[in-house]
Amino acid sequence: MSPEERARRKQFVQQFGWGGFGDEDVDLSLSLDPQNPTPLTGQQLGTLRTDIQKLLEGRKDCSDFVNALLKNVAAATQRSLYSTDPLKVFDAVAGQRGFFLAPGQGAGGYAWGSIGTGDAKVTLDISFGGFSFDRGLVALHEVTHEASGTKYQLYLDRDLALASYQVAVAQGFKGVPKPPGTNDVNANSQYYTERLFKACSPNQRR
Ligand SMILES: [Zn+2]
Repeated sequence: MSPEERARRKQFVQQFGWGGFGDEDVDLSLSLDPQNPTPLTGQQLGTLRTDIQKLLEGRKDCSDFVNALLKNVAAATQRSLYSTDPLKVFDAVAGQRGFFLAPGQGAGGYAWGSIGTGDAKVTLDISFGGFSFDRGLVALHEVTHEASGTKYQLYLDRDLALASYQVAVAQGFKGVPKPPGTNDVNANSQYYTERLFKACSPNQRR
């Protein structure tokens, strides 16, 4: 990333908060995070993995959707896939720089580094006192950013928003809105999370 791009992003973060660029190869959190991110404990890591697993196993719609989504985004971006199994991606990230709690970071989750370069990391602003579903959804979102097997290249929120639209339509979800007509990170991140919610929430259906 160029110094200009880094400065631009830094300004963006200061102005709008963390949106999850999803393609960071420079750890902005070192200079910007107000609180030091702390690594998840082994117990929290196990809980988070179970949160994702519950979503995938709770509704076949969810695992089918995520599987197709990852294949779609890999083809559309021409970035190879590390794995179509979010739990394998989770384990790979956990074995690298890993998962951190970063309260007040300004977004539920944020993906850093890449599995291909061996420095994948996810920072989360989530509560282990809250609902499994809420944690699982945030974690699943971030894990799909890290599912790329291409060095330095994560799947971006824009990539995932477009793929989630195509897959939702192809799989017969009803009333799927068009994806944002912009590259705005927050708009695309939110749109993508809504598609995951529709596919994975126990209270939603196609
Ligand atoms: Zn995202």
